[in-house]
Amino acid sequence: MASGGECVKVAVRCRPLNGKEKGDNRAVILDVDNKTGSVTLNNPKGDEPPKTFTFDNAFDWNVTQREVYDVVARPIVNSVMDGYNGTIFAYGQTGTGKTHTMEGAPTPELQGIIPNCFDHVFETVNSSTGKQWMVRASYLEIYNEEVRDLLSKDPKNKLELKEHKDSGVYVKGLNAFVVKGVPELKNVLEVGKKNRSVGATLMNQDSSRSHSIFTITIETIEQTQAQPEGHIRVGKLNLVDLAGSERQSKTGATGDRLKEATKINLSLSALGNVISALVDGKSGHVPYRDSKLTRLLQDSLGGNTKTIMCANMGPADWNYDETLSTLRYANRAKNI
Ligand code: ADP
Ligand code: MG
Repeated sequence: MASGGECVKVAVRCRPLNGKEKGDNRAVILDVDNKTGSVTLNNPKGDEPPKTFTFDNAFDWNVTQREVYDVVARPIVNSVMDGYNGTIFAYGQTGTGKTHTMEGAPTPELQGIIPNCFDHVFETVNSSTGKQWMVRASYLEIYNEEVRDLLSKDPKNKLELKEHKDSGVYVKGLNAFVVKGVPELKNVLEVGKKNRSVGATLMNQDSSRSHSIFTITIETIEQTQAQPEGHIRVGKLNLVDLAGSERQSKTGATGDRLKEATKINLSLSALGNVISALVDGKSGHVPYRDSKLTRLLQDSLGGNTKTIMCANMGPADWNYDETLSTLRYANRAKNI
């Protein structure tokens, strides 16, 4: 088995300047080198030297959704189809392209990692011989350290995390639907997104403040000579669109919004701590229990699972502080 560190990768992706930034003549302060994976952040005031970071991959604004998929997701999905667990995270401040990376837009060129996974999974299923497959999908969000099933019609449903002696941590009562093809998977995603926005409106929440996790579980049975009754493998793929990483002190949040912000900071830093403990590989203790997010994903982070963190950022000068904080977060998660 590979050590934790080899199975954790970090990529960064920088979106293009948006219309408003162009209109405001904002300066581009990031240099991204797709070939070497290095990124240099220039201080817009020039009062600090440029800072360079190197990652497993760095994607600039010209990189296509398909290229991102092939590098970031394809190897993980292949290993999930072989019976291992895998997790893909999109990290970054709100408006930097997390949802663009994970979901994208509904055209073949612009579709993101999640719909590309759907195609990939069923291409593999439909071209395989001598195996039986079962594909299941579930979709949840974590808001304020509370877990909500996005495939449940009741927006107030709150689910508990439970621990089973043998099978580990699970969400009690979470819906999981068996799907037979790409259209059914797309339907599950759409239903969940709709429930998410209906629930957010009803409870006066902002969905950029929650983590969403779309999970595809893939079970295969293969008859072999050694095991004529069939050899079963189960792999689980978690596709995670994290809550916005922006620091709330700047936005002057108070009351409920401040409480939310504190919990987001807590879970993002817990995730950072878990990943850096895995990458480090030396400390025996991995602090999974510090947040719902890391507890829930415990069996899909570390061990012989594959994880990738894609940290998203904007290129413009006004984002300097947040972009630096994202680069530092991503840098900590790196295998050195
Ligand atoms: P987040 O989910 O991090 O808040 P979004 O994915 O919603 O951010 O992106 C914000 C806006 O920027 C959206 O309009 C999105 O289409 C656009 N965008 C993000 N990344 C890219 C990209 N790489 N290329 C083109 N447009 C992008
Ligand atoms: Mg988003």
